[in-house]
Amino acid sequence: MTTALYRRYRPESFAELIGQSQVTDPLRSALRADRVNHAYLFSGPRGCGKTTSARILARCLNCKEGPTDTPCGKCDSCIELSRGGPGSLDVVEIDAASHNGVDDARDLRERAIFAPARDRYKIFILDEAHMVTPQGFNALLKIVEEPPEHVKFIFATTEPEKVIGTIRSRTHHYPFRLVPPGELLEYLGTILESEGFSAEAGVMPLVVRASGGSVRDALSLLDQLIAGSESKEVAYQRAVNLLGFTHDELMSEVIEAFAEIDAAKAFSAVDKVIQSGQDARRFLEDLLERLRDLMLVSSLGNDAKAILRGIGPEQFDILTIQANRFGLSDLTAAAEATSKALSDTSAASNPRLQLELLCARVLAPVSQRSLAAIQQEPAAAVAIPVTAPVAPAKPPAVAALATQEVKLEKTSELAKPAAEKIALAPEVNITRDEPEAKSVITEPRQPVVPIQDITTATVKAAWPMILETLAKQSRSAWAVAFTTKVIDFKDEVLTLLFQSQNDVDAFKSSQGAAEVLRQVIREQLGVVVKYRAKVAEAPVKPKTKNTVEPTAAEEFTTEEEIEAQDAPEEVAHASEPEAEQAGEFVLREVLGAKPIKGEAS
Ligand SMILES: [Zn+2]
Repeated sequence: MTTALYRRYRPESFAELIGQSQVTDPLRSALRADRVNHAYLFSGPRGCGKTTSARILARCLNCKEGPTDTPCGKCDSCIELSRGGPGSLDVVEIDAASHNGVDDARDLRERAIFAPARDRYKIFILDEAHMVTPQGFNALLKIVEEPPEHVKFIFATTEPEKVIGTIRSRTHHYPFRLVPPGELLEYLGTILESEGFSAEAGVMPLVVRASGGSVRDALSLLDQLIAGSESKEVAYQRAVNLLGFTHDELMSEVIEAFAEIDAAKAFSAVDKVIQSGQDARRFLEDLLERLRDLMLVSSLGNDAKAILRGIGPEQFDILTIQANRFGLSDLTAAAEATSKALSDTSAASNPRLQLELLCARVLAPVSQRSLAAIQQEPAAAVAIPVTAPVAPAKPPAVAALATQEVKLEKTSELAKPAAEKIALAPEVNITRDEPEAKSVITEPRQPVVPIQDITTATVKAAWPMILETLAKQSRSAWAVAFTTKVIDFKDEVLTLLFQSQNDVDAFKSSQGAAEVLRQVIREQLGVVVKYRAKVAEAPVKPKTKNTVEPTAAEEFTTEEEIEAQDAPEEVAHASEPEAEQAGEFVLREVLGAKPIKGEAS
């Protein structure tokens, strides 16, 4: 039988302790300068090195060469207090959880009177010090207040506020903290290596996440993964199963369903989560984490690599593709909805319903946007082939409201093919060449679309493609353009919604961003556009229904002409109440939810 990793790698000196420099640096300075206090309080979360540090401190104090910040490791005391050592008579470890009464305190007080058996100090380590009763502390008070020269106390606790003030004020207090993920990841890597093991991509970040920053927990998990490993490489699938995380593929499925507004795919993914027996809460946490990663990638591009540690290049490419399919605002909205669902799951008895509600919340605002696009552009609806299951006498949302019979699948089908067909609409007219690169993007060489056929919907549908092409041509132009939304296209005037005035300024001033974008649009759609900018009102508090929907004019604070031109008429937009009701309808009729005030849409 092998000893646990945590014991085998227990640090023997402060230099070996990771992630606690805020504690170890001043402690080591104090030891070097021989400014040693008689009582210490080590506080902090479990498993981050408090007791270990107390033992190291005792070793430093009692080393024959000491007090020193680096124990010699050769003297009797150092050997006895080493990892495998038997312990020293002069260092007394007391678990306060089981010795917390007055009698124990009195006993301790009496033992403290005697001089150390061999070494410099008699050191008492009180683990779980918050468990000592107030009476116990009072019995200890006298000796902590005026200890004999040869006595040192080290209190270790997760709850320093429970240590009575009179004791606390006589100690030097060192707060420990959870180990930051980057440092922990690196540390676990070195341990895995010295154990002669390796791990598939993505395994170690999972261990770090599961440990929550506790070194002890991380090492226990790693221990278990190594023990259960068939080969010398820890498999990703094993780790996911053991740690209860959502498999990356399933997570990508959900994200893609959200990006594609594919309700069927989203609900089937939720079903898989439930069927696999996974905890809904854990899944939501994972989803939130993924959305956060995507937000980072979306905002920082390649710079996000520095923050997303432990992610391989392939995984990063996947994240980039996924992030580009959303806008930052859509990601924020999805993250908001997920965060909300997460706080609701603790109270809810039906986790499945929570997950499905979440899907509806994330999908609904987006489908409303697509529906709004259809309502705006009857021309686009005409382009829908007869095979599409749409009864487009009325826009689908209105039709659904009128009949009140459509099931969710149908609603989403209504929304989806319509949206898809819009996306395909340019194909009807545009001659596309085979792309020469591996890229999926088709780039029409000779746009033959008559300008009058290009509608707002066409531009909107082509927008992701335009942005992707833009990203390839000019990263800086893409950086300012990717948060914009197409609001309107009319008479060669393209109205773009910017998130802030800063974005507009950046768009205008960034080296030729406007020109590069204009060029890309010309290549894709064959039209040379003029720009018109609108600025979204900064939301006081971001809501699920974000402010970038092409809706009410009052959402815009300022309007700015980037280039001199005739002001085009106001954008036609979907009737807000109808769109809102459509979302509510999905929740109420299909999922059996009661509309919660202010959240249904
Ligand atoms: Zn020594």
